[in-house]
Amino acid sequence: MTQYVYSFSEGNRDQKDLLGGKGANLAEMTNMGLPVPPGFTITTEACKAYLAEGAVPAEMDAQVTDHLTRVEQALGRTLGDPDDPLLVSVRSGAKFSMPGMMETVLNIGLNDQSVNGLAKISEDERFAWDSYRRLIQMYGKTVMEVPGDLFEDALADAKERKGVTLDTDLTADDLKALVEQFKQIVKDTTGADFPQDPRNQLDAATEAVFRSWNGERAIIYRRQERIPEDLGTAVNVCTMVFGNLGDDSGTGVAFTRDPATGHPGVYGDYLQNAQGEDVVAGIRNTMPLSALQELNPAAHARLLEIMHQLEEHYLDLCDIEFTVERGKLWMLQTRVGKRTAQAAFRIATQLVDEGLISEDEALNRVTGDQLVHLMFPSFDDDAPKNRIAKGMNASPGAAVGQIVFSSEAAVEWAKKGKKVILVRRETNPDDLNGMIASVGILTSRGGKTSHAAVVARGMGKTCVCGAEQLDVDTKRNQMTCPDGTVLVEGDVVSIDGTSGDVYAGDVPVAPSLVVQYFEGTLDPSSDELVAAVDRIMKTADKQARLKVRANADNGPDAARARRFGAQGVGLCRTEHMFLGDRRELVERLILAPGSEQRRAVLEELRPLQRGDFIEIFEAMDGLPVTIRLLDPPLHEFLPDLVELSVKVAVDEHDHKETEEDESLLAAVRRLHEQNPMLGLRGVRLGLVTKGLFAMQARAVLEAAAERIKAGGDPRPEIMIPLVGAVQELESIKVEIDEVATKVAEESGVDVHHLIGTMIELPRAALTAGQIAEVAEFFSFGTNDLTQTTWGFSRDDVEAEFFSEYLDRGIFRVSPFESLDIDGVGRLVKVAVREGRAARRDIHLGVCGEHGGDPASVHFFHEVGLDYVSCSPFRVPVARLEAGRAANEAAHSDTR
Ligand code: PEP
Ligand code: MG
Repeated sequence: MTQYVYSFSEGNRDQKDLLGGKGANLAEMTNMGLPVPPGFTITTEACKAYLAEGAVPAEMDAQVTDHLTRVEQALGRTLGDPDDPLLVSVRSGAKFSMPGMMETVLNIGLNDQSVNGLAKISEDERFAWDSYRRLIQMYGKTVMEVPGDLFEDALADAKERKGVTLDTDLTADDLKALVEQFKQIVKDTTGADFPQDPRNQLDAATEAVFRSWNGERAIIYRRQERIPEDLGTAVNVCTMVFGNLGDDSGTGVAFTRDPATGHPGVYGDYLQNAQGEDVVAGIRNTMPLSALQELNPAAHARLLEIMHQLEEHYLDLCDIEFTVERGKLWMLQTRVGKRTAQAAFRIATQLVDEGLISEDEALNRVTGDQLVHLMFPSFDDDAPKNRIAKGMNASPGAAVGQIVFSSEAAVEWAKKGKKVILVRRETNPDDLNGMIASVGILTSRGGKTSHAAVVARGMGKTCVCGAEQLDVDTKRNQMTCPDGTVLVEGDVVSIDGTSGDVYAGDVPVAPSLVVQYFEGTLDPSSDELVAAVDRIMKTADKQARLKVRANADNGPDAARARRFGAQGVGLCRTEHMFLGDRRELVERLILAPGSEQRRAVLEELRPLQRGDFIEIFEAMDGLPVTIRLLDPPLHEFLPDLVELSVKVAVDEHDHKETEEDESLLAAVRRLHEQNPMLGLRGVRLGLVTKGLFAMQARAVLEAAAERIKAGGDPRPEIMIPLVGAVQELESIKVEIDEVATKVAEESGVDVHHLIGTMIELPRAALTAGQIAEVAEFFSFGTNDLTQTTWGFSRDDVEAEFFSEYLDRGIFRVSPFESLDIDGVGRLVKVAVREGRAARRDIHLGVCGEHGGDPASVHFFHEVGLDYVSCSPFRVPVARLEAGRAANEAAHSDTR
């Protein structure tokens, strides 16, 4: 029989797949002896079975009964007992945290009888009726699908009739009347009564939580966060403890360190006389955690002690949810907390200094994506600014955009290519789409643990929240600043998520300190964050087996890449040397009518090429430089057929046509390709355009010879693009060998060089054994390899249908962004294996965009490539991920 239900004392933190993150950690805390209210977890397996079959598994019911009975016996109370009811919460909890994206129902077990029992036992009638109205509201919305605003409107009306503003100003009698009204709303909208049977409530709430895995919000969030669709959620059934039993009660959320900056010291929000979701929803403004010290010193001290214990146990920043019930502290949740990029680097090194983790482990605590975040610019300190408010620095970064006041507007404006800042009083899970569409988020209420803050941090999006001086009016689409200025939809603001400042207008941004450090212009010890980055990069470099090179086509790019830590150039695209003014030379070369004219153009090109190569060799002295011979998709170098046809037609009409234009048009027509990406490119062009590759190879070798004479140490590697058959490579190699002999004779210098090929066609990968007989190195061109494996045209498909493919889950991420491991990756593996079998010391690298993508770097490490090559700016990211990949592999070997 499958076990679908686990008591909190049965599980542990490693069982997140089965028990979800929340369930696994509740179990861990229970076993640590912390004060967790008793309860049990229904597994993700049960959820998956429910979603597949439309019903819970047959054996689950008895298991729930068994576990519920155990809880009842332990506490001496039964669920929904009319005199002294046990009440439970039913909470979602997937493997990965999805804050606010799924459902929760509190106070299960209350009904028309037990509400009186609760009133008596608690000696607080108001509390009992408030709990009951919350149950009907949450259950009605979540389980019975009653529109939530019907309840909210009724509550607002009740307060208005009474002339009060706070829920807490409603009396027991008011709430009794509201309960009746809520029950009527349920009946009117669903035709059914609010269920009185506690066990029915529990079962229906459990199923509703299972279903919420497939709710719209949850689906959008998973796509954004790249969380797999098939994990399902667990359900945690937990004895209710109450933070709304008066002023000696309350509820809060806290972090063991500041999740925004990473600075040490506990950080949190507390809300007196409140229940569960009130804090995160940002409904009332919270107090800082330190306020609890005055309200209840014993609970505060116990909380700090537990937080310390949790950090020592989890060896990381933890976030927690807790409730104080009549002075007694209860732990409702913990997990390793989400944090900003800067906090991640700071905390990782702090934990090393505190002796909790090793330097190697610190490397696992940060990611390449976080490093990218730190490389973004921030606001220029010296620029004039008009500060209109200061809120909480909820998620760092500098964002400038036009303000919009609804998520719908954010999505619409972003579609038109505008940068928007979503301004709300507070956000809720329905704002997810708007938050994704915005460059930054600004709220006037709520703390660092409000929905806006938590979600923005998770997305790595700049967010300032709780900017209370701003009076946000979402009905009128405007906000009023403290000086009375009114900003309306479309006005520009700048928000600083690192300091919490909000400025009117467009504030210029300054380069990131971390980039200045990589550039070598900032001493790492001058800034705490940069010092942390420096330390972790050093560990990464020590660990990494993969080398990191850069894709660079000129001296300055190569020099910058070297400063960023590149160990060579993995791809110099020579066609990039002919953009701009020089494009016309390539055009003339391709269109040359005879060998004489072609030779003449080649002779014009050679010195230009030689000059470019000298610069790159200088910048990368002593390091390998892979130069790829010309690979222009022809359309990029020829005049546009349509434009030229129109010009000639108009000129003919005006009797102004020239012979030159007409022969150019004839040539362009002759060479016009339906799909130039799959046409006369790469080695094919080299074979057809006699002398082209020989000229380029000559320029490379002459440049190298000149550098050697000047005392340099050039390491050229000549790379042939788009090879599909070894015979193509053989022909070109013969030409290059001849050139090499000539250059050696002429210059008196024998330039050591390698000749290799790109693997960017499936046929090349599948015949890698043959190709390796001739090639001294392979560089995987995963851009073309993705294009040709999938049959997707790189330039066309992303805009056309990728969003549909992502929506349908055919991809989780574009295969041009992150390597398609199953398909393209398999070809890479075949080519690595067969290439090495044919030539043991063959050098293997990758130079497609994937070389700078974290997940792909891990794959390239695993398959045993020697290096990855990526754009200069991503070199630090690739270095970090190369170190992380080696670190992970080392640790999994010893497990
Ligand atoms: C590739 O195809 O992966 C590659 C690096 O070449 P390009 O992008 O220039 O075609
Ligand atoms: Mg290519």
